[in-house]
Amino acid sequence: MPIHKNSIIPLTIESLSSDGSGVAHYEGKAVFVPATAPGDVLNARIVKDMGRYSFAIVEEMLQPSPAHIEPDCPVCKPCGGCCFRHLNYETEARAKQSFVEDAFRRIGGLDTPVLPILPSPLEERYRNKVQFPVGLDAEGHVIAGFYAGRTHRIVPYADCKLQPSELNQIAAFVCEFMEAHGIAPYQEEKHTGLVRHIFLRKGWHSGEILVCLVVNGRKLPHAQELCAALTEQFPVIRSIVLNVNRQKTNVITGLESISLYGPGYIEDTLCGVPVRLGPLSFYQVNTPAAEQLYGVARQFAQLEPGDTLLDLYCGMGTIGLSMAADCKELIGVEIIPEAVESAKLNAAAMGVENARFFCADAGKAAAKLADEGLRPDVVCLDPPRKGCDEATLNAVIAMGPRRIVMVSCNPATAARDCRYLADRGYRPLRAQPADLFPRTKHCECVIELVREN
Ligand code: SAH
Repeated sequence: MPIHKNSIIPLTIESLSSDGSGVAHYEGKAVFVPATAPGDVLNARIVKDMGRYSFAIVEEMLQPSPAHIEPDCPVCKPCGGCCFRHLNYETEARAKQSFVEDAFRRIGGLDTPVLPILPSPLEERYRNKVQFPVGLDAEGHVIAGFYAGRTHRIVPYADCKLQPSELNQIAAFVCEFMEAHGIAPYQEEKHTGLVRHIFLRKGWHSGEILVCLVVNGRKLPHAQELCAALTEQFPVIRSIVLNVNRQKTNVITGLESISLYGPGYIEDTLCGVPVRLGPLSFYQVNTPAAEQLYGVARQFAQLEPGDTLLDLYCGMGTIGLSMAADCKELIGVEIIPEAVESAKLNAAAMGVENARFFCADAGKAAAKLADEGLRPDVVCLDPPRKGCDEATLNAVIAMGPRRIVMVSCNPATAARDCRYLADRGYRPLRAQPADLFPRTKHCECVIELVREN
């Protein structure tokens, strides 16, 4: 039976979906309601009926669940980034635990034991990176904020609680400077204007800050004045760079960076690995939670002194380098050149001499290394959200490692890839979820797989 648009129906929320909505049932059919908590009793208004399920919004909250809290952010709703800001953290962590359990059971068809989730050591201001789009408000003032869900409309907000206040203050300072000096924000529809994004990084342990302005051009008017003003106001700024992006694209950064002040990067450490952070390399955004996660990966790897470790999708090498002392040889593969350069420098800074890093596609490199006779004892896989492709998994299987450690930011593709490996002789022994992104729907996990017989 279709439920008509705008019908008001009574619901009790039962659980949370992996995209952050509350889930209830009405006449046997699933109904998804954003900004609700398990246990909420409400009247909902149907906004879209999809046949087998429907989408609704809260019309009237009759009895909020004890898990439901008042969001402590005035722009939570239009921004949409923190789809769990209305939940207490225990409920959020439990939901993420079940996302991983459900993915393994339903998508993977696997009965892999899922360990209790490791909560993030910090629930607020945990991010070490933020990328604010820049634009104009209705009065023509320069603003920085976040895009409202599924749009490119900027929701300005002075103090987003996901990152240190200092980074928010720097963004506001840059906006004021742009306005005072007539520097135009980029306008996507017309492909005119200059400043597209304010991209900031702060070293968790070092406190150093990188300011990067992504620009539709190669020059910034009043650049030296901006550098002087910023570094006077925020002395922890170590580098200021321009990143050139003149494409009509949603991709935030371009390939070329021009240094305006300082060495063009900041330094920090992750699991004791020294890292140089420029604007282009992938780096986990929640340092203390990532250190927990990589600690688990190291435990799952169970390296022995004579082992060779192959670290695919290695970024700037942090996972492999954090285990380099446990093995004889480390080989890292990563597709972004800047990240590979960082990995090499990080290894050198640590005095690690048993590591090699290649800039290549993981699947192609793994196939080539397998052809050359490489037989790593342990392989670490840490792919982007879309997971590994079959070519990569086949090459890994062909190398026959004793163990595979999979680190994933997407339980659905992790479960799919574990199924593929399980069907080819690798048993997923256990999965450890870890929350690196409190208040948002994202969840990370590490899986330990062993070769059978
Ligand atoms: N292991 C690293 C990075 C993980 S994120 C860390 O913990 O920091 C995933 C990484 O995979 C990114 O650095 C991305 O640039 C890289 N990547 C994406 N597609 C790839 C491919 N086809 N081959 C190799 N690396 C790839």
